[in-house]
Amino acid sequence: MNGMRELVISPCQARCSWSTSGQRLGEDLLFACSACGSEWVASEAWTPVDWQGVVPEAVQAERAREE
Ligand SMILES: [Zn+2]
Repeated sequence: MNGMRELVISPCQARCSWSTSGQRLGEDLLFACSACGSEWVASEAWTPVDWQGVVPEAVQAERAREE
């Protein structure tokens, strides 16, 4: 939790497609799902997966950077 603001978390459909939003939330790169509008940063406990059930490469890279 970075406490900067609440992330948008929508119930993901089976159409999720994650990518970097080009924005930052504090130190973190902000990711967004183009299907449901959910947001994610690497400090979150959960990990986004796309509609194919795969963790997007950019998400994996950001997680690796964070650890
Ligand atoms: Zn989604």
